[in-house]
Amino acid sequence: METLYPWQEPQWRRLISQHQQNRLPHALLITGQTGLGQLEFAEQWAQYLFCEKRTETACGQCRSCRWMVAGTHPDLWRVTPEEAGKNIKIDQIREMQRGLHQTAQRAGYQIALIAPADALNKAAANALLKILEEPPGKVLLLLISHQPGALPATVVSRCQQWPLTASEAVSRRWLAARLQTLGLPANADQLLKIAEYAPLCALELAQNHYLTARDQLLAHCLAVHQGKATSLAPVTEYLKQGVKIWVDLLFSITADLLRLHLKVKADLLVNQDSLPQLQRLAFAYPITHWLNVLTALTQARQALLNHQIHLNEQLLLESLLIFM
Ligand SMILES: [Zn+2]
Repeated sequence: METLYPWQEPQWRRLISQHQQNRLPHALLITGQTGLGQLEFAEQWAQYLFCEKRTETACGQCRSCRWMVAGTHPDLWRVTPEEAGKNIKIDQIREMQRGLHQTAQRAGYQIALIAPADALNKAAANALLKILEEPPGKVLLLLISHQPGALPATVVSRCQQWPLTASEAVSRRWLAARLQTLGLPANADQLLKIAEYAPLCALELAQNHYLTARDQLLAHCLAVHQGKATSLAPVTEYLKQGVKIWVDLLFSITADLLRLHLKVKADLLVNQDSLPQLQRLAFAYPITHWLNVLTALTQARQALLNHQIHLNEQLLLESLLIFM
């Protein structure tokens, strides 16, 4: 298990102080954009509460800590979709509820970790609501959601909200150090900008060689416009890295192309380091073209976010690249 990330420390201290003042709620809803380590934060918090020798953090040595590290703590209930992209079903919440009731007589905490909470289907959310209204014994519910707007308001209102954020300076320091350790190119600033300052997303971009991929893609688009290549992009090759990175890339580039048409200042471009290429590509088409592309990309991103099954990735990527 990861330790606490440096950008999480202010929120960690706030939680510790609430705990020390005995003001810990029965349910925490941990939110914020992806790439800030919400799950790790929740796991750290569970480990801290279970720890037999805790100070400002969990000791990492006691029996409880060892169980947490091994992922076998008997008082931690993990509720996640049975299959990636599917819903959390009512049976899973009922099973958790039975478990919590059976063990509610034990001295320590019982913790349920529900991630992502927005995957709860309607019946499961209703069952959870009953637990939130009358939590049995010393129970803490940790809900994680990157889109809390998708949760029923009745569930949200019974949780204390914990939006995680990351300061730019702290993220930059952490990412630069990670890139160095991993022997990756030192471009923390550019990566953070593309990742909307979510450090774990920026690291993922670096590990996927995102900037190299972006430069390849831009070079290909420009070659097509200069008649030096056919419009058939090497989609099969691209898909080896998964479709999401390419859709995100196209989105980031298209948004910049629109910014150029709107005469936005160059330092506000996300891909500022590729300004000459972007300028050539932007004015190869009128602004209405790029607006249509952005709409198509927004829909593609939504489809990926909702884990729409039967999505033909190759077809999706081809249909987007044809516009570039
Ligand atoms: Zn411990």
